[in-house]
Amino acid sequence: MNSNLNAPHFKDEQAAYAYVEAWLWPTGPVCPHCGNCDQGRIRKLAGKSTRPGLRKCNECRKQFTVKVGTIFEDSHAPMTHWLQAIYLMCSSKKGISTRQLQRMLGGSMKTAWFMGHRIRLAMAPAANSGPVGGAGKTVEADATYLSKSPKTRKAPGTAVNAKPAPQVFSLIERGGAIRSMYLDDKNIRGALAVHLHDDSRLVTDGSVSYKFQVANHESVDHSKFEWTRGDVHTNTLEGFFSIFKRGLVGVYQHMDKKHLDRYLSEFDFRMNTRAKLGVNDTQRTGMAIASARGKRLQYKTAH
Ligand SMILES: [Zn+2]
Repeated sequence: MNSNLNAPHFKDEQAAYAYVEAWLWPTGPVCPHCGNCDQGRIRKLAGKSTRPGLRKCNECRKQFTVKVGTIFEDSHAPMTHWLQAIYLMCSSKKGISTRQLQRMLGGSMKTAWFMGHRIRLAMAPAANSGPVGGAGKTVEADATYLSKSPKTRKAPGTAVNAKPAPQVFSLIERGGAIRSMYLDDKNIRGALAVHLHDDSRLVTDGSVSYKFQVANHESVDHSKFEWTRGDVHTNTLEGFFSIFKRGLVGVYQHMDKKHLDRYLSEFDFRMNTRAKLGVNDTQRTGMAIASARGKRLQYKTAH
């Protein structure tokens, strides 16, 4: 049997570069300095002392690799390590902790932490993704508190000085994309207005937050023990929240509130490329690499 972990791009630096280039330059190298993509005017520099993947543009005379303008820029980690880390994050349903990454790849905790957050950035949706759903689409919306146990959960304002548990809100189009966010001081109505396509059919629980927000809205009343009525339910999101919370408790143990949106991007990405939609671990890894372009995160701004 041939293990996925045996692939050459996990072991050989040249093969690793070729792998990343195939995802980021599907039609051949593009000069990041001048935009030249004439393959006859871009030269691969070879030789023992040359960095892997180094190209020279004959138009602007500048050198570049596939790392320029991506999450890999300015990283000293070998590309093989990057590919191992991306594969691990893409194939682990509940994520992988910084400590685990550091043990598996070697190097420092700082490197592993920063690598993890850069990969999460690649997994984040593009800024111009648009609202979830559309005409003829059914969208589930639901929110959940991230307290460790329902027993310790307190509604906001029930105790003096008690901090409300962080609340996560998600929208998912049935058979399509999910979008999750940390609500913080934002509210559900505001989030719906921004992230839900107006023409969608919305299905939710009986919370008042969803009332009169969308013309086409149906809900089930959990307080009356009604969980499902025909296709009106929020079971898809209940399943997602369950995986996210198991990752929170079992893998990440502590997610800093200010980084919660990054972790949500990671779990959203795996949900959006789930096996049920026909994507396997290797394809998911490639999709993460393909979205590494235009996303730079510098250590000083990563905290
Ligand atoms: Zn150029």
